[in-house]
Amino acid sequence: MKSEPLIIACTSDFAGKVRGKAFPQDEFEKRLKRGVGWTPTNVQITCFDAIADSPYGALGDLVLIPAPETRVSLDYQDERPAEQFVFGDILHMDGRPWECCTRSLLKSALDRLRSVAGMSLHGAFEHEFHVKDAACPLGSAYTASGFRMQRPLAEQLLAAMHSAGLKPDTFMKEYGRDQYEVTMGTADGIAIADHAAVLRELVYVTAERNGIHASFSPLRDPAGVGNGVHMHLSLRDSAGNPATYDPDGKHGLSEKAGQFVAGVLKYLDRIVALTAPSVVSYTRLTPHRWSAAFNNLGLRDREAAVRICPVSQVSGVPIEEQFNFEIRAADAAASPYLALAAVVHAGVQGIEEQLGTPEATEEDLSLLSAEELAKRGIVGLPGTLEAAIDALRSAEIIGDWFSAEFQDVYVRHKLGEIDFLKDKSEAEICAAYEAVY
Ligand code: GLU
Ligand code: MG
Repeated sequence: MKSEPLIIACTSDFAGKVRGKAFPQDEFEKRLKRGVGWTPTNVQITCFDAIADSPYGALGDLVLIPAPETRVSLDYQDERPAEQFVFGDILHMDGRPWECCTRSLLKSALDRLRSVAGMSLHGAFEHEFHVKDAACPLGSAYTASGFRMQRPLAEQLLAAMHSAGLKPDTFMKEYGRDQYEVTMGTADGIAIADHAAVLRELVYVTAERNGIHASFSPLRDPAGVGNGVHMHLSLRDSAGNPATYDPDGKHGLSEKAGQFVAGVLKYLDRIVALTAPSVVSYTRLTPHRWSAAFNNLGLRDREAAVRICPVSQVSGVPIEEQFNFEIRAADAAASPYLALAAVVHAGVQGIEEQLGTPEATEEDLSLLSAEELAKRGIVGLPGTLEAAIDALRSAEIIGDWFSAEFQDVYVRHKLGEIDFLKDKSEAEICAAYEAVY
């Protein structure tokens, strides 16, 4: 029997899952207007498929409209059909963005950056993942031999990224057991998150086509190394010129970039439930794991929540083009749209409040006393997802940035996820997340 190609119209939702509905390829143009039908309560499907408490119940209708610039079509030239998907926006039937559409929420955060500061965002996400069935031998960390074990995956991923309009950058065998890292070139605005969402799908699909399985779970085992998502960001002025670097600014940050970073750090304990939203995320976000345990700024410090990245003096690329800061308190249990929307709102808030550029820390903060940390205005990030949810729930400002409806629904979603895990051991919880991310 002959088969006919389908395209999946997708959303990256509160669970950080990519869910969607497929339609015939030859209806693409028509579906750009008509979209596909969507159900409000879908947003309460947790990563474990249980439906969290939903204010929508069985009621309501929405429409998911594809954004054509995110369309991906990949022919692996094997016996299986080409892979085709497209991300989109979830709208009310009258065309208004839905309060829980992550892509629409990021668009409105980027609009706020434009209207408050006259600026746009530029950047790229860096992803770590592990190959579940790799079984790299001891001694593989960072090695060429560890890389070689996944060369077929790496090289097909490279081709898949090119064909999806992403700019491949590097691929390596990371430090953790069977762990790899993939980086990509920068994009502007909404495309930063589009590319992150697409990249994760490309990794999953390409691994699967190679008969192996990738996992982006934030933590594979309690004693192991985490899979981080690091958001590399910089600001552009209204003419599109780099506006993050100022050779005379503190730590080289321009006034606006310093305010933005200060806002991210000020609100980080309240938004971390949006950037690192799994139960195991909070084991990753502890000291000495090269992630982030405090709301600190660091210069080239891989344990800082926000790190100012190094610039090359020899590359020939102007410093202002390279200069960026990296948000490290994030992982792939979060929708890239939602994680970035939270960071942008916090940053814009910092610009509105005209906060000063933070001091950078240079030592192991886990060794400082509570008084010493308080004196420097540093707070530890929440130690559990429950604590992070409490911080998000009690922050009125989150309702202003997004909406009270969003805040309420998101909290209920995460409480449902926590409930699903309630009688499980730490090892079982890690295994549960490894199975679903
Ligand atoms: N695996 C670390 C994390 O959980 C990051 C290591 C690195 O600096 O690349 O974020
Ligand atoms: Mg890494």
